[in-house]
Amino acid sequence: MSLIIVISGPGGAGKGTIVRQLCKRDPKVTVSKSWTTRKPRTDDKEDSYFFVDDATFRKHKEEGGFIEWNEFLGFMYGTPKPDNKEERDLILEIDVSGGRQIITKIPETVLIFVDVEDSELRRRLAQRGDETDKIEERVIEAKRERKEAKDLNYKFILNDDLEKATKEIHEIVSKARL
Ligand code: 5GP
Repeated sequence: MSLIIVISGPGGAGKGTIVRQLCKRDPKVTVSKSWTTRKPRTDDKEDSYFFVDDATFRKHKEEGGFIEWNEFLGFMYGTPKPDNKEERDLILEIDVSGGRQIITKIPETVLIFVDVEDSELRRRLAQRGDETDKIEERVIEAKRERKEAKDLNYKFILNDDLEKATKEIHEIVSKARL
């Protein structure tokens, strides 16, 4: 089975951009597309998620269609069971609770936490149009996730420079393949 790489970190930390950069420079990785019940945001890329309603999500969950799932700030998010025939390494851009579920099932999983300073996080969330109370909710959630990620021995990458952060993650993935 190919390697699983979990990339977690606060919304607004730049995980999506890093993952796209990583895919460009490394043809041996691919990204899993999650399902979510939240509504699309203006900054979502066209293929960010399968956007579904509560009933569709619940049905897929009950049928065992997810390898992990979690409720995050009132919405459901889940990773569909990976295709066994996929030979490329699989990146899961999911929260730390999802990372915990995956590492429990697949201990070889690589866990990476992409982080930014709180002040920078607030700036980026405001820039993408999040409302003030939602920003504070996400900053508090980021603090909780950071702590949980430390307990799970995640590797921390500070995304103060996109090129540097992508390079560091690529090095971690290359080492893990050995
Ligand atoms: P957002 O609403 O900003 O797109 O995502 C909110 C949080 O849910 C982020 O931490 C994101 O990584 C996480 N997330 C996205 N997809 C999944 C998934 O399939 N499973 C889990 N557990 N978390 C997810």
